[in-house]
Amino acid sequence: MTVAPEPLSRFLRGVEQLQAAGLGEPELLRGGRRLLGELVADDDWLPNAYARPDPDRYRQILLYRDPAGRFSLVSFVWGPGQSTPVHDHTVWGLVGVLRGAELAQRFRIPDAGAPVPLGPPERLEAGAIDVVSPSVGDVHQVSNAFDDRVSVSIHLYGADIGEVRRAVYPLAGGRKPFVSGYSNDAATPPFVLDLEHAA
Ligand code: FE
Repeated sequence: MTVAPEPLSRFLRGVEQLQAAGLGEPELLRGGRRLLGELVADDDWLPNAYARPDPDRYRQILLYRDPAGRFSLVSFVWGPGQSTPVHDHTVWGLVGVLRGAELAQRFRIPDAGAPVPLGPPERLEAGAIDVVSPSVGDVHQVSNAFDDRVSVSIHLYGADIGEVRRAVYPLAGGRKPFVSGYSNDAATPPFVLDLEHAA
């Protein structure tokens, strides 16, 4: 059992409070954005094991899962040049870039045929926050902006995202069921939250 270090535990207690307040999605996203912005403003709290890339594909390391399943926090570790497929989430999500930079390209999915890019890719530098959700735009493709270094971003989702049944959208068209799972190993157990010391 690994208790979440500060400032991660402070962030998680803040999200817990937002959830407990029973807010609607816009208010929840506003509060979550503020908390995530504070969390990624400093890049000195994530233990190295949770920022280690896999040479073959990007890693999604679960940092924390709300026991009630209302939210989850994931460290995305991008090796040089790594990229997701075009995918959706089906729940709200907030992305905060901790280290390096990401390119995020949004898409719209026509009734038939290939995903259609919505505008140019957006470059998210360290400290930047992006939002996805069925209500604000849910389909995107994310890449490491660098082909010679690692990038890391911290993602907060309104569900246990590794278990959510969602979809990837091949560039040739169509829709494939997708459950992402997590990439944790023995060196990267999810953290637990010490609620006894809640502020
Ligand atoms: Fe995504």
